[in-house]
Parts: sequence; C-alpha cells; structure tokens
Amino acid sequence: MTPKGKLIIISAPSGCGKSTIIGDIMDRGTLDLQFSVSATNRKPRPGEVDGVSYHFLTDQQFHDLIAEGAFVEYEQVYPGRYYGTLRSEIQNRVDAGHNVILDIDVKGGINVKKQFGDDAMSIFIAPPSIPELRNRLKARGSESDEEIAQRVDRAEYEMTFQPEYDHVVVNDMLQEAIGNVENLMSSFIKG
Ligand code: ADP
Ligand code: 5GP
Repeated sequence: MTPKGKLIIISAPSGCGKSTIIGDIMDRGTLDLQFSVSATNRKPRPGEVDGVSYHFLTDQQFHDLIAEGAFVEYEQVYPGRYYGTLRSEIQNRVDAGHNVILDIDVKGGINVKKQFGDDAMSIFIAPPSIPELRNRLKARGSESDEEIAQRVDRAEYEMTFQPEYDHVVVNDMLQEAIGNVENLMSSFIKG
C-alpha cells in the first residue's frame, strides 16, 4: 500500500511573504508537494487565476458548500470574506501519497493541525516587524490604504497565535527564509 502523504500548514499574516516562499519551493520541485487550492468569496486580484490561486465563488456558492459539508475548515478571515479548505483538495492526494501544502489563516491552521495531528506540520511565517510588513503590503500595491490598515491590524492579532505552531520562521532575508522552510518540510516528509 502507498504510504499516505502529509499535510504542511503554512500560516502568516497577509504580506509576510507566504506566497513568495511557497511558490519558490514548489518551483524548485525537489519535494513532492501539491497545493491545496482554497475557496473564497473575495474577488480575484490582478494576475490571479480561478482554480489556480483560489476557487473564486459567489457568496451563495460558498454558503452552499458549507451546507454540503464540503469544507475541512473555513473561516471568515475579514468581514464578509470567507476562505475555506475543500475536502476534495486534500483527501485524494494524501491517499495517493502526495504531500499537500495549505496556505491558510491562523485559526484554520490550528484547526487542521488538531484534526490531522502527527500527519500535519504547521509553520508560522512572521514578518521582521510590523512597520516592515506595512511597507511590503504598500509595495505589493494590491490593496487600498484602508485594506492595508485592516491587514496590519489583523497581523498583530494573528501573531499572538505563534506559540501554537510547530515552527516559526521569520521572513527577513528571503532566501534564508525559503531555505529554512524547505528544510523543515524536507525533514518532516522524510521523517
Ligand atoms: P503573502 O502571500 O504572505 O500575502 P507575498 O508573498 O505576496 O505575501 O509578499 C508580500 C510582498 O512582500 C510581495 O510584494 C513580496 O515580493 C514581498 N516580499 C516577500 N518576502 C520579502 C522579503 N524577505 N523581503 C522583502 N520583500 C519581500
Ligand atoms: P488573501 O486574501 O491575502 O489571499 O488571504 C487572506 C488570508 O486568508 C490569508 O491569511 C490566507 O492564509 C487565508 N486563507 C486562504 N485560504 C484559506 C483557507 O482555505 N482557510 C482559511 N482558514 N484561511 C485561508
């Protein structure tokens, strides 16, 4: 029988570099990793592709899936903005022996870790500081000033959950952070 794959949970306040780090590790292709594409009712940002970045759903579609029990977990991460991990994104892949990466918020991450125990490893990616996080969000240019302020507020709240994660990696020098995350993943997968 094929050994089951494992789950790798990555959480970080928005703008901490999670997408950059995950994208780089997946592009290197040295680990057997597949990305769990979350569902959300938020609108796509420029460059985001439906079914690749997220499954972009209407409010109605999202609530129908909740009612059907299609989510392993879901959260209202920002007012009116829902994000959730679909059971269909992880079950078959893990059964087929692939490892699955979940890029999800702190509550979702802690929830999935509780459900999957030793079959999951959780990593929190932290910013070097709050002012630096604000700079990165501004430089990314994908949110309004009001949304940036909302995300920075939420970042301060999310950072209080760091002790509940298996590992914390500070994303100061990008290449160093990528190396640290890749090493943690590699040890866990081989473990
Ligand atoms: P997230 O997916 O966590 O919201 P992103 O990967 O989109 O964050 O990163 C936010 C912005 O910060 C992007 O413009 C990215 O290029 C930049 N960035 C990521 N890591 C670093 C770093 N170590 N130093 C400086 N800028 C970074
Ligand atoms: P963004 O809008 O910047 O893509 O994501 C906002 C937040 O939603 C991030 O913290 C991201 O990790 C989180 N998120 C994305 N997908 C999921 C998911 O499936 N479940 C949960 N709980 N959070 C998610």
